[in-house]
Amino acid sequence: MTTPRESSIEISKEEFRKIGYQLVDSISDFIDTIDQRPVTSGETPSQIQRVLGDSHLPEQGTSALELFPKAVDLLLNHSLFNSHPKFFGYITSSPTPVGILADLLASAVNPNVGANILSPMATAIEKQTIKWLAEFIGVSPTYGGLLVSGGNMANFTAFLAARTAKAPKSIKEDGLLQAPGEMVFYCSKATHTWIEKAAVLFGHGTKSIRWIATDADNRINNDVLERTIIEDLKNGKKPFMIIGNAGDVSTGVVDNLAGIGTLCKTYDLWFHIDGAYGVPAAVIPELRAMFMGIQEADSIALDPHKWLYCPMEVGCTLVKNPQHLIDTYSSHPVYYNFGNAEDEPSQNYYEYGLQNSRGFRALKVWMALQHIGRNGYVKLIGEDIELAKLLFEGAKRHEELEGLTHHLSIATLRYVPSGTKLGEPEAEKYLNLLNEKLLNELQNGGEAFLSNAVVNGKYCLRGCIVNFRTSKSDIEEILQLIVRMGRKIHGELKVEKLN
Ligand SMILES: *Cc1c(COP(=O)(O)O)cnc(C)c1O
Repeated sequence: MTTPRESSIEISKEEFRKIGYQLVDSISDFIDTIDQRPVTSGETPSQIQRVLGDSHLPEQGTSALELFPKAVDLLLNHSLFNSHPKFFGYITSSPTPVGILADLLASAVNPNVGANILSPMATAIEKQTIKWLAEFIGVSPTYGGLLVSGGNMANFTAFLAARTAKAPKSIKEDGLLQAPGEMVFYCSKATHTWIEKAAVLFGHGTKSIRWIATDADNRINNDVLERTIIEDLKNGKKPFMIIGNAGDVSTGVVDNLAGIGTLCKTYDLWFHIDGAYGVPAAVIPELRAMFMGIQEADSIALDPHKWLYCPMEVGCTLVKNPQHLIDTYSSHPVYYNFGNAEDEPSQNYYEYGLQNSRGFRALKVWMALQHIGRNGYVKLIGEDIELAKLLFEGAKRHEELEGLTHHLSIATLRYVPSGTKLGEPEAEKYLNLLNEKLLNELQNGGEAFLSNAVVNGKYCLRGCIVNFRTSKSDIEEILQLIVRMGRKIHGELKVEKLN
Protein backbone atom coordinates (compact mmCIF):
# COMPACT_ATOMS: atom_id res chain seq x y z
CA MET A 1 0.00 0.00 0.00
CA THR A 2 1.22 3.49 -0.79
CA THR A 3 1.05 6.21 1.79
CA PRO A 4 -1.38 8.87 0.66
CA ARG A 5 0.04 12.33 0.12
CA GLU A 6 -0.42 14.67 3.03
CA SER A 7 -2.69 17.34 1.60
CA SER A 8 -4.77 20.22 2.87
CA ILE A 9 -7.19 19.82 -0.02
CA GLU A 10 -8.54 16.39 0.82
CA ILE A 11 -11.19 15.91 3.44
CA SER A 12 -11.82 12.58 5.07
CA LYS A 13 -14.69 10.41 3.97
CA GLU A 14 -16.38 10.97 7.35
CA GLU A 15 -16.04 14.73 7.10
CA PHE A 16 -17.32 14.74 3.54
CA ARG A 17 -20.40 12.83 4.58
CA LYS A 18 -21.01 15.07 7.57
CA ILE A 19 -20.73 18.28 5.55
CA GLY A 20 -22.72 16.78 2.71
CA TYR A 21 -25.58 15.64 4.93
CA GLN A 22 -25.72 19.02 6.67
CA LEU A 23 -25.70 20.79 3.34
CA VAL A 24 -28.45 18.60 1.91
CA ASP A 25 -30.50 19.16 5.09
CA SER A 26 -30.12 22.93 4.74
CA ILE A 27 -31.07 22.84 1.06
CA SER A 28 -34.08 20.60 1.53
CA ASP A 29 -35.34 22.83 4.39
CA PHE A 30 -34.77 25.84 2.19
CA ILE A 31 -36.80 24.37 -0.65
CA ASP A 32 -39.51 23.27 1.72
CA THR A 33 -39.94 26.71 3.31
CA ILE A 34 -39.27 28.86 0.27
CA ASP A 35 -42.79 30.33 0.19
CA GLN A 36 -42.40 31.60 3.76
CA ARG A 37 -39.30 33.61 2.93
CA PRO A 38 -39.19 37.01 1.28
CA VAL A 39 -38.45 36.81 -2.45
CA THR A 40 -35.44 39.04 -1.80
CA SER A 41 -33.74 40.46 1.26
CA GLY A 42 -33.86 43.79 -0.56
CA GLU A 43 -30.46 44.78 0.85
CA THR A 44 -28.40 47.39 -0.97
CA PRO A 45 -24.96 46.49 -2.37
CA SER A 46 -23.28 48.27 0.58
CA GLN A 47 -25.42 46.42 3.11
CA ILE A 48 -24.52 43.17 1.40
CA GLN A 49 -20.86 44.18 1.41
CA ARG A 50 -21.02 44.75 5.18
CA VAL A 51 -22.57 41.34 5.77
CA LEU A 52 -19.87 39.72 3.64
CA GLY A 53 -17.02 41.64 5.25
CA ASP A 54 -13.96 43.04 3.62
CA SER A 55 -11.16 40.68 4.57
CA HIS A 56 -8.02 39.95 2.55
CA LEU A 57 -7.16 36.75 0.77
CA PRO A 58 -6.80 34.11 3.49
CA GLU A 59 -3.19 33.11 4.14
CA GLN A 60 -4.16 29.92 5.94
CA GLY A 61 -6.85 27.44 5.19
CA THR A 62 -10.04 27.03 7.22
CA SER A 63 -11.75 23.74 7.95
CA ALA A 64 -14.51 22.85 5.52
CA LEU A 65 -16.80 22.04 8.45
CA GLU A 66 -16.60 25.70 9.43
CA LEU A 67 -16.88 27.10 5.92
CA PHE A 68 -20.09 25.52 4.77
CA PRO A 69 -22.47 26.77 7.48
CA LYS A 70 -21.16 30.29 6.83
CA ALA A 71 -21.71 30.06 3.09
CA VAL A 72 -25.17 28.58 3.66
CA ASP A 73 -26.08 31.47 5.96
CA LEU A 74 -24.84 34.12 3.53
CA LEU A 75 -26.66 32.65 0.58
CA LEU A 76 -29.91 31.53 2.16
CA ASN A 77 -30.43 34.72 4.13
CA HIS A 78 -29.16 37.37 1.74
CA SER A 79 -30.22 36.34 -1.75
CA LEU A 80 -32.98 36.84 -4.23
CA PHE A 81 -34.80 33.56 -4.74
CA ASN A 82 -36.03 32.78 -8.20
CA SER A 83 -37.34 29.53 -6.71
CA HIS A 84 -39.96 31.54 -4.80
CA PRO A 85 -43.54 31.04 -6.04
CA LYS A 86 -43.97 34.81 -6.44
CA PHE A 87 -40.85 35.39 -8.56
CA PHE A 88 -41.88 36.36 -12.12
CA GLY A 89 -38.94 38.57 -13.10
CA TYR A 90 -37.19 38.57 -16.47
CA ILE A 91 -37.05 34.97 -17.70
CA THR A 92 -35.50 33.08 -14.87
CA SER A 93 -37.04 29.86 -13.71
CA SER A 94 -37.20 28.05 -10.42
CA PRO A 95 -34.55 25.33 -10.57
CA THR A 96 -35.83 21.77 -10.57
CA PRO A 97 -34.67 19.95 -7.40
CA VAL A 98 -33.48 17.05 -9.54
CA GLY A 99 -31.25 19.48 -11.44
CA ILE A 100 -29.76 20.77 -8.19
CA LEU A 101 -28.63 17.28 -7.24
CA ALA A 102 -27.55 16.46 -10.78
CA ASP A 103 -25.09 19.36 -10.71
CA LEU A 104 -23.49 17.89 -7.59
CA LEU A 105 -23.09 14.51 -9.25
CA ALA A 106 -21.75 16.11 -12.43
CA SER A 107 -19.02 17.97 -10.59
CA ALA A 108 -18.12 14.88 -8.58
CA VAL A 109 -17.25 13.01 -11.78
CA ASN A 110 -16.02 16.22 -13.43
CA PRO A 111 -15.76 14.91 -16.98
CA ASN A 112 -14.25 17.23 -19.57
CA VAL A 113 -16.94 17.05 -22.24
CA GLY A 114 -14.67 18.67 -24.81
CA ALA A 115 -13.41 15.30 -25.99
CA ASN A 116 -15.03 11.90 -26.08
CA ILE A 117 -11.99 10.11 -24.69
CA LEU A 118 -12.14 12.31 -21.57
CA SER A 119 -15.89 11.92 -21.07
CA PRO A 120 -17.19 8.72 -22.66
CA MET A 121 -20.49 8.52 -20.79
CA ALA A 122 -21.00 12.27 -20.43
CA THR A 123 -20.52 12.77 -24.19
CA ALA A 124 -23.07 10.05 -24.91
CA ILE A 125 -25.49 11.65 -22.43
CA GLU A 126 -25.06 15.07 -24.03
CA LYS A 127 -25.73 13.54 -27.47
CA GLN A 128 -28.89 11.92 -26.21
CA THR A 129 -29.97 15.15 -24.53
CA ILE A 130 -29.54 17.06 -27.79
CA LYS A 131 -31.64 14.49 -29.62
CA TRP A 132 -34.35 14.65 -26.94
CA LEU A 133 -34.41 18.45 -27.08
CA ALA A 134 -34.96 18.29 -30.85
CA GLU A 135 -37.81 15.83 -30.28
CA PHE A 136 -39.17 18.04 -27.50
CA ILE A 137 -39.63 21.08 -29.72
CA GLY A 138 -40.80 19.02 -32.68
CA VAL A 139 -37.95 19.17 -35.17
CA SER A 140 -36.23 16.19 -36.73
CA PRO A 141 -34.06 14.24 -34.23
CA THR A 142 -31.30 14.41 -36.84
CA TYR A 143 -30.61 18.01 -35.80
CA GLY A 144 -27.31 18.10 -33.95
CA GLY A 145 -25.67 20.60 -31.70
CA LEU A 146 -24.37 21.15 -28.23
CA LEU A 147 -25.05 22.67 -24.85
CA VAL A 148 -23.59 26.04 -23.97
CA SER A 149 -23.88 28.48 -21.08
CA GLY A 150 -27.15 30.13 -22.07
CA GLY A 151 -29.23 31.80 -24.74
CA ASN A 152 -26.64 34.38 -25.70
CA MET A 153 -23.98 31.75 -26.31
CA ALA A 154 -26.47 29.52 -28.11
CA ASN A 155 -27.29 32.35 -30.50
CA PHE A 156 -23.62 33.32 -30.99
CA THR A 157 -22.71 29.71 -31.75
CA ALA A 158 -25.38 29.57 -34.46
CA PHE A 159 -24.54 33.04 -35.79
CA LEU A 160 -20.96 32.13 -36.64
CA ALA A 161 -22.05 28.85 -38.21
CA ALA A 162 -24.53 30.80 -40.36
CA ARG A 163 -21.87 33.21 -41.50
CA THR A 164 -19.38 30.46 -42.30
CA ALA A 165 -22.04 28.64 -44.31
CA LYS A 166 -23.08 31.67 -46.36
CA ALA A 167 -19.78 33.53 -46.79
CA PRO A 168 -17.16 32.65 -49.42
CA LYS A 169 -15.21 29.52 -48.48
CA SER A 170 -12.10 31.57 -47.81
CA ILE A 171 -13.62 33.65 -44.99
CA LYS A 172 -11.82 31.66 -42.30
CA GLU A 173 -8.47 32.67 -43.80
CA ASP A 174 -9.28 36.07 -45.29
CA GLY A 175 -11.71 37.46 -42.76
CA LEU A 176 -14.51 39.89 -43.53
CA LEU A 177 -12.45 42.33 -45.57
CA GLN A 178 -12.38 40.03 -48.58
CA ALA A 179 -16.13 39.38 -48.49
CA PRO A 180 -17.95 40.50 -51.65
CA GLY A 181 -19.96 43.32 -50.12
CA GLU A 182 -21.03 44.10 -46.59
CA MET A 183 -22.61 41.07 -44.92
CA VAL A 184 -25.95 42.04 -43.39
CA PHE A 185 -28.59 40.21 -41.36
CA TYR A 186 -32.21 40.72 -40.40
CA CYS A 187 -34.22 40.58 -37.22
CA SER A 188 -37.19 42.34 -35.70
CA LYS A 189 -36.94 45.35 -33.43
CA ALA A 190 -38.07 43.09 -30.60
CA THR A 191 -34.93 40.92 -30.84
CA HIS A 192 -32.89 40.40 -27.69
CA THR A 193 -29.64 42.36 -27.20
CA TRP A 194 -27.49 39.30 -28.02
CA ILE A 195 -27.68 40.38 -31.65
CA GLU A 196 -25.76 43.57 -30.90
CA LYS A 197 -23.10 41.67 -29.01
CA ALA A 198 -22.83 39.24 -31.93
CA ALA A 199 -22.46 42.08 -34.43
CA VAL A 200 -19.57 43.49 -32.37
CA LEU A 201 -18.01 40.16 -31.43
CA PHE A 202 -17.87 38.80 -34.98
CA GLY A 203 -16.64 42.03 -36.51
CA HIS A 204 -19.70 43.12 -38.51
CA GLY A 205 -20.53 46.18 -36.47
CA THR A 206 -24.03 47.05 -35.34
CA LYS A 207 -24.74 48.92 -38.59
CA SER A 208 -24.98 45.53 -40.29
CA ILE A 209 -28.06 44.72 -38.24
CA ARG A 210 -31.27 45.36 -40.15
CA TRP A 211 -33.83 46.06 -37.41
CA ILE A 212 -37.14 45.26 -39.09
CA ALA A 213 -40.31 47.00 -37.99
CA THR A 214 -42.91 45.01 -36.11
CA ASP A 215 -46.66 45.08 -36.47
CA ALA A 216 -48.84 46.37 -33.66
CA ASP A 217 -48.68 42.93 -32.04
CA ASN A 218 -44.85 43.01 -31.94
CA ARG A 219 -44.46 40.40 -34.71
CA ILE A 220 -41.86 41.03 -37.41
CA ASN A 221 -43.42 42.55 -40.54
CA ASN A 222 -42.47 40.10 -43.28
CA ASP A 223 -43.33 42.57 -46.08
CA VAL A 224 -40.96 45.19 -44.72
CA LEU A 225 -38.43 42.39 -44.23
CA GLU A 226 -38.59 41.33 -47.89
CA ARG A 227 -38.44 44.92 -49.15
CA THR A 228 -35.34 45.53 -47.03
CA ILE A 229 -33.61 42.43 -48.41
CA ILE A 230 -34.36 43.50 -52.00
CA GLU A 231 -33.07 47.01 -51.28
CA ASP A 232 -29.84 45.61 -49.76
CA LEU A 233 -29.26 43.33 -52.76
CA LYS A 234 -29.75 46.29 -55.08
CA ASN A 235 -27.12 48.18 -53.12
CA GLY A 236 -24.55 45.42 -53.39
CA LYS A 237 -24.86 44.16 -49.82
CA LYS A 238 -24.55 40.48 -48.99
CA PRO A 239 -27.55 39.37 -46.88
CA PHE A 240 -26.81 36.10 -45.08
CA MET A 241 -29.38 35.38 -42.42
CA ILE A 242 -32.77 36.14 -40.92
CA ILE A 243 -33.48 35.69 -37.24
CA GLY A 244 -37.00 34.88 -36.17
CA ASN A 245 -38.16 35.13 -32.57
CA ALA A 246 -40.04 32.24 -31.04
CA GLY A 247 -41.15 34.16 -27.98
CA ASP A 248 -39.66 37.66 -27.96
CA VAL A 249 -37.93 38.53 -24.73
CA SER A 250 -40.22 41.40 -23.82
CA THR A 251 -43.77 40.24 -24.48
CA GLY A 252 -43.42 36.62 -25.66
CA VAL A 253 -44.61 37.01 -29.27
CA VAL A 254 -43.76 34.32 -31.83
CA ASP A 255 -42.89 35.67 -35.30
CA ASN A 256 -44.42 34.29 -38.49
CA LEU A 257 -41.75 31.60 -38.77
CA ALA A 258 -43.15 29.87 -41.84
CA GLY A 259 -43.06 33.20 -43.68
CA ILE A 260 -39.45 33.79 -42.66
CA GLY A 261 -38.57 30.27 -43.78
CA THR A 262 -39.99 30.99 -47.23
CA LEU A 263 -38.02 34.21 -47.53
CA CYS A 264 -34.84 32.38 -46.54
CA LYS A 265 -35.42 29.84 -49.33
CA THR A 266 -36.17 32.55 -51.90
CA TYR A 267 -33.06 34.59 -51.10
CA ASP A 268 -30.75 31.74 -50.05
CA LEU A 269 -30.37 32.96 -46.45
CA TRP A 270 -29.70 31.07 -43.24
CA PHE A 271 -32.85 30.73 -41.12
CA HIS A 272 -32.12 31.07 -37.42
CA ILE A 273 -34.73 30.96 -34.67
CA ASP A 274 -34.12 32.53 -31.29
CA GLY A 275 -36.30 30.35 -29.12
CA ALA A 276 -34.36 30.98 -25.91
CA TYR A 277 -37.52 31.74 -24.04
CA GLY A 278 -40.50 30.43 -25.94
CA VAL A 279 -39.70 27.43 -28.09
CA PRO A 280 -40.34 24.83 -25.35
CA ALA A 281 -44.04 25.78 -25.61
CA ALA A 282 -44.01 23.94 -28.96
CA VAL A 283 -44.28 20.76 -26.88
CA ILE A 284 -47.98 21.59 -26.34
CA PRO A 285 -49.99 20.02 -29.18
CA GLU A 286 -52.55 22.87 -29.25
CA LEU A 287 -49.73 25.40 -29.76
CA ARG A 288 -47.98 23.63 -32.65
CA ALA A 289 -49.61 25.93 -35.19
CA MET A 290 -48.02 28.99 -33.55
CA PHE A 291 -44.57 27.48 -34.24
CA MET A 292 -45.29 26.34 -37.79
CA GLY A 293 -42.13 26.53 -39.86
CA ILE A 294 -39.62 25.58 -37.17
CA GLN A 295 -38.77 22.35 -39.00
CA GLU A 296 -37.31 24.55 -41.74
CA ALA A 297 -34.87 26.36 -39.43
CA ASP A 298 -31.17 25.97 -40.14
CA SER A 299 -30.47 26.62 -36.46
CA ILE A 300 -32.41 27.12 -33.25
CA ALA A 301 -31.31 28.53 -29.90
CA LEU A 302 -33.11 27.36 -26.80
CA ASP A 303 -32.47 27.72 -23.12
CA PRO A 304 -33.06 24.78 -20.78
CA HIS A 305 -32.32 27.12 -17.84
CA LYS A 306 -35.47 29.04 -18.72
CA TRP A 307 -38.61 27.09 -19.53
CA LEU A 308 -37.21 23.60 -18.92
CA TYR A 309 -36.59 24.67 -15.30
CA CYS A 310 -32.94 23.55 -15.21
CA PRO A 311 -30.55 25.30 -12.84
CA MET A 312 -28.25 27.79 -14.56
CA GLU A 313 -26.23 27.66 -16.69
CA VAL A 314 -27.43 25.80 -19.73
CA GLY A 315 -28.40 26.87 -23.23
CA CYS A 316 -28.53 24.82 -26.42
CA THR A 317 -27.74 25.32 -30.11
CA LEU A 318 -29.49 22.98 -32.53
CA VAL A 319 -28.39 22.90 -36.17
CA LYS A 320 -30.22 21.13 -38.96
CA ASN A 321 -26.98 20.01 -40.57
CA PRO A 322 -24.44 19.72 -37.72
CA GLN A 323 -21.59 19.58 -40.23
CA HIS A 324 -21.90 23.38 -40.33
CA LEU A 325 -20.72 23.50 -36.71
CA ILE A 326 -17.69 21.36 -37.50
CA ASP A 327 -16.91 23.46 -40.61
CA THR A 328 -16.95 26.53 -38.37
CA TYR A 329 -15.27 25.39 -35.21
CA SER A 330 -13.13 22.34 -35.86
CA SER A 331 -9.36 22.39 -35.87
CA HIS A 332 -6.83 19.68 -35.17
CA PRO A 333 -3.81 20.86 -33.19
CA VAL A 334 -0.85 18.50 -32.84
CA TYR A 335 -1.23 18.34 -29.07
CA TYR A 336 -4.60 16.57 -29.26
CA ASN A 337 -4.82 12.86 -29.61
CA PHE A 338 -8.59 12.76 -30.00
CA GLY A 339 -8.54 11.01 -33.37
CA ASN A 340 -11.24 8.55 -34.16
CA ALA A 341 -10.67 4.97 -33.20
CA GLU A 342 -10.19 2.64 -36.16
CA ASP A 343 -13.67 1.24 -36.17
CA GLU A 344 -15.82 3.92 -34.56
CA PRO A 345 -15.90 7.67 -35.07
CA SER A 346 -16.10 9.60 -31.81
CA GLN A 347 -17.77 12.93 -31.27
CA ASN A 348 -15.56 15.59 -29.73
CA TYR A 349 -17.63 18.54 -28.60
CA TYR A 350 -14.73 20.99 -28.72
CA GLU A 351 -15.19 20.82 -32.51
CA TYR A 352 -18.83 21.93 -32.29
CA GLY A 353 -18.56 25.28 -30.58
CA LEU A 354 -16.47 27.99 -28.97
CA GLN A 355 -15.52 26.24 -25.76
CA ASN A 356 -12.60 23.90 -25.35
CA SER A 357 -12.80 22.35 -21.89
CA ARG A 358 -16.48 21.83 -21.23
CA GLY A 359 -18.41 20.95 -18.10
CA PHE A 360 -21.13 18.36 -17.80
CA ARG A 361 -24.17 20.64 -18.21
CA ALA A 362 -26.06 17.88 -19.94
CA LEU A 363 -26.64 15.83 -16.82
CA LYS A 364 -29.18 18.17 -15.21
CA VAL A 365 -31.11 18.51 -18.47
CA TRP A 366 -31.01 14.79 -19.16
CA MET A 367 -32.22 14.02 -15.63
CA ALA A 368 -34.97 16.67 -15.73
CA LEU A 369 -36.28 15.43 -19.08
CA GLN A 370 -36.57 11.92 -17.65
CA HIS A 371 -37.94 12.97 -14.28
CA ILE A 372 -40.66 15.16 -15.77
CA GLY A 373 -41.20 13.53 -19.14
CA ARG A 374 -42.89 15.07 -22.15
CA ASN A 375 -46.34 14.86 -20.57
CA GLY A 376 -45.13 16.48 -17.37
CA TYR A 377 -43.71 19.39 -19.35
CA VAL A 378 -46.89 19.75 -21.41
CA LYS A 379 -48.77 20.18 -18.13
CA LEU A 380 -46.26 22.49 -16.43
CA ILE A 381 -45.74 24.80 -19.41
CA GLY A 382 -49.48 24.84 -20.10
CA GLU A 383 -50.18 25.83 -16.50
CA ASP A 384 -47.59 28.63 -16.62
CA ILE A 385 -49.40 29.99 -19.68
CA GLU A 386 -52.76 29.75 -17.90
CA LEU A 387 -51.38 31.59 -14.87
CA ALA A 388 -50.04 34.41 -17.05
CA LYS A 389 -53.47 34.64 -18.64
CA LEU A 390 -55.02 34.85 -15.18
CA LEU A 391 -52.67 37.72 -14.33
CA PHE A 392 -53.60 39.51 -17.55
CA GLU A 393 -57.34 38.96 -17.21
CA GLY A 394 -57.32 39.81 -13.52
CA ALA A 395 -55.72 43.12 -14.47
CA LYS A 396 -58.28 43.70 -17.23
CA ARG A 397 -61.15 43.06 -14.83
CA HIS A 398 -59.86 45.34 -12.07
CA GLU A 399 -60.98 48.94 -12.30
CA GLU A 400 -57.55 50.30 -11.26
CA LEU A 401 -55.44 48.00 -13.42
CA GLU A 402 -54.89 47.77 -17.13
CA GLY A 403 -53.89 44.51 -18.80
CA LEU A 404 -51.78 45.32 -21.86
CA THR A 405 -50.51 42.08 -23.40
CA HIS A 406 -50.53 38.33 -22.89
CA HIS A 407 -48.46 35.95 -25.03
CA LEU A 408 -47.22 32.53 -23.91
CA SER A 409 -46.43 32.92 -20.19
CA ILE A 410 -45.78 36.67 -20.21
CA ALA A 411 -48.38 39.24 -19.16
CA THR A 412 -47.92 43.00 -18.98
CA LEU A 413 -50.10 45.29 -16.91
CA ARG A 414 -50.04 48.65 -15.17
CA TYR A 415 -51.68 50.48 -12.31
CA VAL A 416 -54.12 53.20 -13.37
CA PRO A 417 -55.71 55.33 -10.62
CA SER A 418 -59.49 55.71 -10.94
CA GLY A 419 -60.51 58.68 -13.02
CA THR A 420 -57.36 58.73 -15.18
CA LYS A 421 -58.00 59.94 -18.73
CA LEU A 422 -56.14 57.21 -20.66
CA GLY A 423 -54.34 58.39 -23.78
CA GLU A 424 -53.97 62.01 -22.71
CA PRO A 425 -50.26 62.91 -22.97
CA GLU A 426 -50.07 64.36 -19.43
CA ALA A 427 -51.91 61.40 -17.94
CA GLU A 428 -49.71 58.91 -19.83
CA LYS A 429 -46.57 60.64 -18.64
CA TYR A 430 -47.81 60.45 -15.08
CA LEU A 431 -48.72 56.77 -15.44
CA ASN A 432 -45.20 55.98 -16.65
CA LEU A 433 -43.72 57.71 -13.61
CA LEU A 434 -46.17 56.08 -11.23
CA ASN A 435 -45.62 52.57 -12.60
CA GLU A 436 -41.85 52.89 -12.62
CA LYS A 437 -41.90 53.87 -8.95
CA LEU A 438 -44.32 51.07 -8.26
CA LEU A 439 -42.06 48.52 -9.91
CA ASN A 440 -38.99 49.69 -7.99
CA GLU A 441 -40.80 49.47 -4.65
CA LEU A 442 -42.25 46.12 -5.53
CA GLN A 443 -38.83 44.72 -6.48
CA ASN A 444 -37.26 45.82 -3.20
CA GLY A 445 -40.23 44.96 -1.00
CA GLY A 446 -39.66 41.20 -1.04
CA GLU A 447 -43.33 40.20 -1.36
CA ALA A 448 -43.17 39.49 -5.07
CA PHE A 449 -40.83 40.16 -7.98
CA LEU A 450 -41.86 41.32 -11.44
CA SER A 451 -39.80 43.09 -14.08
CA ASN A 452 -40.80 45.81 -16.54
CA ALA A 453 -41.61 46.30 -20.21
CA VAL A 454 -42.46 49.27 -22.37
CA VAL A 455 -45.46 48.47 -24.56
CA ASN A 456 -46.27 51.14 -27.18
CA GLY A 457 -44.62 53.77 -25.02
CA LYS A 458 -46.41 52.63 -21.87
CA TYR A 459 -44.22 51.66 -18.91
CA CYS A 460 -45.70 48.55 -17.42
CA LEU A 461 -45.08 45.71 -15.03
CA ARG A 462 -44.24 42.41 -16.64
CA GLY A 463 -44.78 38.97 -15.16
CA CYS A 464 -43.06 36.06 -16.88
CA ILE A 465 -44.10 32.80 -15.31
CA VAL A 466 -41.55 30.04 -15.84
CA ASN A 467 -42.19 28.86 -12.33
CA PHE A 468 -43.60 25.46 -11.39
CA ARG A 469 -44.20 26.68 -7.82
CA THR A 470 -46.63 29.45 -8.71
CA SER A 471 -50.32 28.83 -8.10
CA LYS A 472 -53.56 30.72 -8.72
CA SER A 473 -53.59 32.20 -5.23
CA ASP A 474 -50.15 33.75 -5.86
CA ILE A 475 -51.59 35.51 -8.90
CA GLU A 476 -54.56 36.85 -6.95
CA GLU A 477 -52.32 38.03 -4.12
CA ILE A 478 -49.99 39.78 -6.54
CA LEU A 479 -52.85 41.62 -8.22
CA GLN A 480 -53.98 42.86 -4.80
CA LEU A 481 -50.43 43.80 -3.89
CA ILE A 482 -50.03 45.89 -7.06
CA VAL A 483 -53.29 47.74 -6.38
CA ARG A 484 -52.31 48.36 -2.75
CA MET A 485 -48.88 49.69 -3.70
CA GLY A 486 -50.29 51.66 -6.62
CA ARG A 487 -52.74 53.47 -4.37
CA LYS A 488 -50.04 54.24 -1.84
CA ILE A 489 -47.59 55.64 -4.39
CA HIS A 490 -50.32 57.60 -6.16
CA GLY A 491 -51.19 59.13 -2.78
CA GLU A 492 -47.55 60.04 -2.12
CA LEU A 493 -47.14 61.58 -5.57
CA LYS A 494 -50.28 63.69 -5.03
CA VAL A 495 -48.89 65.03 -1.76
CA GLU A 496 -45.56 65.78 -3.46
CA LYS A 497 -47.36 67.74 -6.15
CA LEU A 498 -49.27 69.81 -3.57
CA ASN A 499 -46.12 70.75 -1.68
C1 LIG B 1 -33.10 35.11 -22.36
C2 LIG B 1 -33.02 35.31 -23.81
C3 LIG B 1 -31.78 35.40 -24.44
C4 LIG B 1 -30.48 35.36 -23.67
O1 LIG B 1 -30.37 34.15 -22.97
P1 LIG B 1 -29.37 34.00 -21.72
O2 LIG B 1 -29.62 32.63 -21.25
O3 LIG B 1 -29.79 35.06 -20.75
O4 LIG B 1 -28.00 34.23 -22.22
C5 LIG B 1 -31.77 35.56 -25.80
N1 LIG B 1 -32.91 35.62 -26.50
C6 LIG B 1 -34.13 35.54 -25.92
C7 LIG B 1 -35.37 35.60 -26.75
C8 LIG B 1 -34.23 35.38 -24.55
O5 LIG B 1 -35.41 35.29 -23.98
